[in-house]
Amino acid sequence: MTETAYQKCINPDCGAQFDCGQAMFKCPACGELLDAQYNWDKIEVPDKLSDFGKRWGNRDNPLDFSGVWRFRELLNFCDDKYKVTIGEGQTIFQQNDAVAKYVDMKPGRLYLQYEGLNPSGSFKDNGMAAAFSHAKMVAARSCACASTGNTSASVALYAHSCGLKATVFIGSGRIAFGKLSQGMDYGAQTIQIQGDFDDCMRQVQDVCTKLGLYLLNSLNPFRLEGQKAIMYRIIEGLRWEVPDWIIVPGGNLGNSSAFGKTFYELKQLGLIKRIPRMAIVNATGADMLTDLVNNKKLLWNNGRVNQAIIDDYYADLTARNFSPHTCASAIEIARPVNLKKCLRAIDICNGVVRAVTDVEICDAKAIIGKYGLGCEPASAATIAGLRRLRTEDVIGADERVACVLTGHPLKDPNVTVNYHKEKQGEFSNPPVEAPNDIDEIIKLIN
Ligand SMILES: *Cc1c(COP(=O)(O)O)cnc(C)c1O
Ligand SMILES: [Zn+2]
Repeated sequence: MTETAYQKCINPDCGAQFDCGQAMFKCPACGELLDAQYNWDKIEVPDKLSDFGKRWGNRDNPLDFSGVWRFRELLNFCDDKYKVTIGEGQTIFQQNDAVAKYVDMKPGRLYLQYEGLNPSGSFKDNGMAAAFSHAKMVAARSCACASTGNTSASVALYAHSCGLKATVFIGSGRIAFGKLSQGMDYGAQTIQIQGDFDDCMRQVQDVCTKLGLYLLNSLNPFRLEGQKAIMYRIIEGLRWEVPDWIIVPGGNLGNSSAFGKTFYELKQLGLIKRIPRMAIVNATGADMLTDLVNNKKLLWNNGRVNQAIIDDYYADLTARNFSPHTCASAIEIARPVNLKKCLRAIDICNGVVRAVTDVEICDAKAIIGKYGLGCEPASAATIAGLRRLRTEDVIGADERVACVLTGHPLKDPNVTVNYHKEKQGEFSNPPVEAPNDIDEIIKLIN
């Protein structure tokens, strides 16, 4: 297979290595998560990040057009012939002073990385471009995922465009309509399990093992390689400089894990001089990361994570029959599979974790809609979290901050319509009822 990359267990007491020709989602030796790792001396990495900018002039080459594969030397785990792209990563990096004002930041300092412009409407497509390339490399024919919605939409879209059969597992009830509609429309088989996302996540792993299906959740180390590209594009948007802070919602913790790895690698390669800080934002109804990190003081500890803290915590959730609840369905997750990699990212980026309420999320979402390009609820947790961190003065008013807006506003129209029509919040903008009469209508226009 390729000599440029291999898979490695993140557990320092195991450290088992495997070539990239195998599809695994956990270390077969110890059960821990796997990383993609690179033999950098065998890869022609550009001397400086700005060299990647030259590919902009070459947009008729689909790999140069892709917002993921434009940076392919930095995720060099497969031959070009396997690489899958459907045009992911044509995103907008928007400086936004009106939203900056809402969070009490100085003009010119806040940027929104709008991932809703991806082919399936969320950042997941960055990861799928990479994971499906790996699936092709290992000659997978069928694939599966568990999903709160966006993973299934993205999997379904990529699967049919590269000829794989896809099965997606969703929990009962709590999936946003836009997302559910996509999976069905893109032709995936949808299995709705009586349970929540965490139940789906457990089932899909067993099903994939039993039937030999290719797993596309963020346990898949190659998916996270694709998600690194979100950070490359933020750096690109800042003319190849790093921001002071990255803010990201925390669900299954794939993004935060991938972003930490990105900055670690770029620093190691001498392509950046300093690593930005990272804030990961939970919803209060699904705030296990906040609880584990801020209250239980769980640390990466060079890979020797205190497993007893995690086990006790999850045992307690089980004993209480706990199921997470938030309107931000994409982050409604109680047992995040990438927890340990996320702890590593917090360590790398001197990260902080916060939880924000659904009210704060919906208000922030309305502001992003009114002054920005809009987003789905989970994405708005970033702005709500930033506002909180400004109040605490953890983030300064003139630091340069990039928030990752993970998904498109049309993903979850119900939350938006309810917020405005039912006047649920400070920024509700409900429709005004008018009689069918020109004079009465004119009186109402302000
Ligand atoms: C999947 C998803 C998240 C959660 O991301 P993780 O990487 O699992 O933490 C957040 N927002 C949106 C819109 C998503 O689709
Ligand atoms: Zn291992």
